[in-house]
Amino acid sequence: MAEDLLVVKNLKKYYPITGGVLGGEVGVVKAVDDVSFTVKSGETLGLVGESGCGKSTTGRSLLRLIEPTSGEINFDGTDVMSLSTDAMRKMRRDMQIVFQDPFASLNPRHNIEKILEEPLIVHGLGSSAERKKRVQEMLEIVGLSSYHASRYPHQFSGGQRQRIGIARALMLKPKLIVADEPVSALDVSIQSQVLNLMQDLQREFGLTYLFIAHDLSVVRHISDRVGVMYLGRIVELTTSSQLYSNPLHPYTRALLSAVPSPDPDAVRERVILQGDVPSPAKPPSGCTFHTRCPHVTEECRTVRPEFADTGDGHFVACHLYKS
Ligand code: SF4
Repeated sequence: MAEDLLVVKNLKKYYPITGGVLGGEVGVVKAVDDVSFTVKSGETLGLVGESGCGKSTTGRSLLRLIEPTSGEINFDGTDVMSLSTDAMRKMRRDMQIVFQDPFASLNPRHNIEKILEEPLIVHGLGSSAERKKRVQEMLEIVGLSSYHASRYPHQFSGGQRQRIGIARALMLKPKLIVADEPVSALDVSIQSQVLNLMQDLQREFGLTYLFIAHDLSVVRHISDRVGVMYLGRIVELTTSSQLYSNPLHPYTRALLSAVPSPDPDAVRERVILQGDVPSPAKPPSGCTFHTRCPHVTEECRTVRPEFADTGDGHFVACHLYKS
């Protein structure tokens, strides 16, 4: 059994809301509210949910690109929250991120060689000749050619730019990659090419992924386990196959009912959710999903359900599944 590479406990990221005449704090947005999970070495954990559910904030908090409000992050035996700025910068050799919009994350004035070399320069690794050799190797690894090194980001298609984003993340030979909606901006036909590339790279380099997406069919393709987020919390977490064959949380069931089934004969009841996602500045009491849940009871309105293991590591936060 593989070891836990990443252990996250009670992670919170709250943003103060200021206002009033004196501009004081009048409230707080709970973007990430008490999130706990583990990722094993070599595993892919998918994090899925609607826009604004806190999945990207969770991913960025792990690398402390956003400073968490509180919680524990243990990565490869190191307490990430206790690291100084300098130590955190060194730690990011092993924890890299791939962003959704490859164009926005690549400096348009730098050619690809300079973009890919930069992480090595920042960390003082290799001679100039060694760095250039590594750039050439990495371009080939991600399915591009060494002659692409002299070109600029605007000369590439969206799919090629995401390959460059992945190459840049791999330059430092990291252990963990936080992939923040890496294929959401790409055409469906290109999405599967990039997902296949990520799977090949994972096998070749023993990578561990936290894969963030709003699209359940994309997450299914790549994840070993999946966590479903709603209003800053994980409401269900289990293996990919369990989540798709036996979803327990009413929110997961609603999300899945909107995903076309690969089996044309499968009859899946469409669940239409009532209302909009409430504001994270004013989350509902009790179960935060109670304003939209078709199974809501009086208890749901007042008591927050525990995030509990229903058996075999299938966690769910819902009063319907009490042990
Ligand atoms: Fe629905 Fe109640 Fe379960 Fe929340 S706890 S998901 S409101 S049944």
